[in-house]
Amino acid sequence: MSGRIGRSKFKQGLAFRRCWICSSAARGWGSLFEGIAIWAERVKTLSVDDVKRRVRTVLRWQLANGVQFVRSHVDVCDPELRAVRALLELREEIGDQMTLQLVAFPQQGILSFEGGEELMRKAVEMGVDVVGAIPHFELTREYGERSVKFAMALAADKGLRVDIHCDETDDDHSRFVEVMAAETIRLGMGGRVTASHTTAMHSYNNAYAYRLINNLKRAGMHMVTNPLDNATLQGRFDSYPIRRGHTRVKELLSAGVNVCVGHDSVMDPWYPLGYGDPMQAAFVLAHYGQMSGHDELRTLIDMITRNPAEALGLEDYGLEVGCRADLCAFAAPTEMDAIRLVAPRKLVVRAGKVVARTEPAHTTVVWDGREEQVDFLKP
Ligand SMILES: [Zn+2]
Repeated sequence: MSGRIGRSKFKQGLAFRRCWICSSAARGWGSLFEGIAIWAERVKTLSVDDVKRRVRTVLRWQLANGVQFVRSHVDVCDPELRAVRALLELREEIGDQMTLQLVAFPQQGILSFEGGEELMRKAVEMGVDVVGAIPHFELTREYGERSVKFAMALAADKGLRVDIHCDETDDDHSRFVEVMAAETIRLGMGGRVTASHTTAMHSYNNAYAYRLINNLKRAGMHMVTNPLDNATLQGRFDSYPIRRGHTRVKELLSAGVNVCVGHDSVMDPWYPLGYGDPMQAAFVLAHYGQMSGHDELRTLIDMITRNPAEALGLEDYGLEVGCRADLCAFAAPTEMDAIRLVAPRKLVVRAGKVVARTEPAHTTVVWDGREEQVDFLKP
């Protein structure tokens, strides 16, 4: 659902190199924080045209994968706001081919980056749809709390939605999502607020997590877990056993909280892989979140379709009479097979028209001297 822009080659070149004498943990190698340091260098050389070119490529990949609604977190920690300008232009240019929601996302913090508050306000004035924050990256706990309150007040004031990268760390003292819940209740913003990542929840004690999850439910917040990025970024400071560092998906779901699967990065300093397919993210969550029960696998489909539609506030979404004819057809006979095979999207339909098509692969094996077709399905 969400994406960052960038290129993996910068991972090797800048800021950090793995030191074989010190431990990788001490250097934060492969962590979120290393990614942010690399990106902070990269931002300085962004150009509007280059950003647009890269985003256009990924949007095409996403559409081919059946994704028609994208929430993208756009870095505002650039005095020239080049990425914001590029994405706003692009949002206009693509028209109704896809729906793009843009988040003003302060990658280096709101209070910890020079002019951060002003840049956030400016991005909102320019026309972004959603307000973000990154409280766990702010210089102090107090700044983190203030950044959440600033972002939510800004969104409430302008009638916008909120999507905050929150507690994306293995530090169990990172507790900003409780501030989000309290502010959502206080400002009456239930249904319009999303907390993304919240990986620290993995490390909270159970008593605290129980209370928190009840408050998230009470606040009517949406949660987004990002299995691809967080399976690779978290636990980087651990020695064995290495934590999975994933939010508490099953507990949140069973408490009735709306939980979605996000894609997050595509080939950038945080995640070198990916091709914009939410089904691939759902497949990873089936393993990483141990959602391997029959009903749990079915739930994964909701987590990349109707649940995020609710978080994005999409209207007329779903396979009901009167809904928009936006859909995709998998080359698989059942939902289980669609997940198991990360099956190709045979057809993607937007407002009743075919907008993408994939010919499923034709695979054969030579068996007993004869060439036979294999479709990876049970007989
Ligand atoms: Zn993210």
